[in-house]
Amino acid sequence: MPINRRTFGKLVIASIGSTLAPAVLARPLARVVVVGGGAAGATAARKLANSKHRIEVILVEPNRHYTTPFFSNRALAGLQSLENFSRDYLKLTSADGIRVIHDMVIESDPGKQTVRLSSGADLPYDRLIVAPGTGLITKNIEGYNSTSQQIFPHAYNGSSPDQWVLLRNRLQEMKDGGLVIITAPPRPYKCTPAPYERASLIAGYLLKHKPKSKLLILDSKVEFPLMDAMIEVWDEKFGDQIEWVSADFGGAISGVDNNNQSILADGEIFTPDIGNIIPPQHAGAIAHKFGLADDSGWCPVNALTFESTRQTNVHVLGDAIDAGDMPKSAAAAHQQALSAATAIANLLTGSNDPVPKLENACYFLTEPGQALVVGGRYRVDGGKIAGVEGYSSDPGESPEIRQQTARKGEQWYADVTQAMFGRG
Ligand SMILES: Cc1cc2nc3c(=O)[nH]c(=O)nc-3n(C[C@H](O)[C@H](O)[C@H](O)COP(=O)(O)OP(=O)(O)OC[C@H]3O[C@@H](n4cnc5c(N)ncnc54)[C@H](O)[C@@H]3O)c2cc1C
Repeated sequence: MPINRRTFGKLVIASIGSTLAPAVLARPLARVVVVGGGAAGATAARKLANSKHRIEVILVEPNRHYTTPFFSNRALAGLQSLENFSRDYLKLTSADGIRVIHDMVIESDPGKQTVRLSSGADLPYDRLIVAPGTGLITKNIEGYNSTSQQIFPHAYNGSSPDQWVLLRNRLQEMKDGGLVIITAPPRPYKCTPAPYERASLIAGYLLKHKPKSKLLILDSKVEFPLMDAMIEVWDEKFGDQIEWVSADFGGAISGVDNNNQSILADGEIFTPDIGNIIPPQHAGAIAHKFGLADDSGWCPVNALTFESTRQTNVHVLGDAIDAGDMPKSAAAAHQQALSAATAIANLLTGSNDPVPKLENACYFLTEPGQALVVGGRYRVDGGKIAGVEGYSSDPGESPEIRQQTARKGEQWYADVTQAMFGRG
């Protein structure tokens, strides 16, 4: 049955029964449909649903649980189980009154202001939020095809746990003396320091459990954020066990051979026991299908409201956008969503509530209980996001400072996941 405005209203009233106050049952002023229940989509949905305005919110997300990509490197290294990073959408319905539909959005009709689900149902909207995260670009990796992800798990894209489980199992099964290769993509991609945090934590796991093993990072870049501090830790802690090969020394991946499980970089063939290939990225597929992405592969927006510059009444958030100076991180996606939700409510209701400022702070473990931070504050200038000030951990910091940073990171994760998915 197609879900239209009238049937949806009936469903909501039927499901919430007659115990609620009349104000709650009042006809909504407007409907916002959110595509994607990740860091950006879940935040925006909750913020709009809990606003003082009568805005009906429908969230469409295929997965029943969201496995937070952020902090997931800890699960790969066995520091915490993957279940610790899983969040349920149920509370968004029970506590926030959001209608969560577990399905994929597959088409849109901007003229009619509807999106179609893979079930065939059409959802009308007054404003649409598209927050699908990233998609992988594999065309420049020769030999990479649909089976390659099973051979070289990326454990990087999407929010279902399968890829993480695959890579974790491989690490546990690998013999002592094995070779692990992580390939790091060119910018821009989500969470630039994350492959290096991953390298640190996996190297720590190998040192403890498979000390004859080695980890090689093949990089398509010549530098990365927090590089000096990270390499200092690697030198001190792991010595020859970890090696970073930058693009100017032949680190850029160019092909794979699925049958031989080998990786080609700068004419050299590597045959690791585990290949964790993190491909280059662009905006998630649905953003391309909707015509929201430009030639850069990302979606241009007016950062005052996060409305697409290519389609009216459609807002794009999180990793999928061209965010100017702001990185692609959960912290950034969350802040953008708070800002956009306020702006959208203002647009729909004619209010003038202050739009929160844009900030980012990302925390990365070098080893259990020791972390680095990188962050910044931003302003909107001519519709684009521009950096105001930035900061990052220095090399040579004391273990006490790194411990404090790790504690702040734990607190950030607890706070931000609660803000996205409700109290745990
Ligand atoms: C290993 C790793 C470590 C990281 N560490 C950090 C960190 O320490 N700090 C930090 O701030 N960030 C970190 N990040 C980055 C962070 O996870 C992302 O920036 C953030 O998740 C982006 O949020 P998003 O909502 O844009 O996308 P996502 O969180 O990827 O969510 C997108 C959602 O959209 C859904 N979706 C896609 N297409 C459709 C469709 N057609 N219909 C319906 N739903 C759809 C997907 O199922 C998914 O749930 C890390 C990322 C990785 C991979």
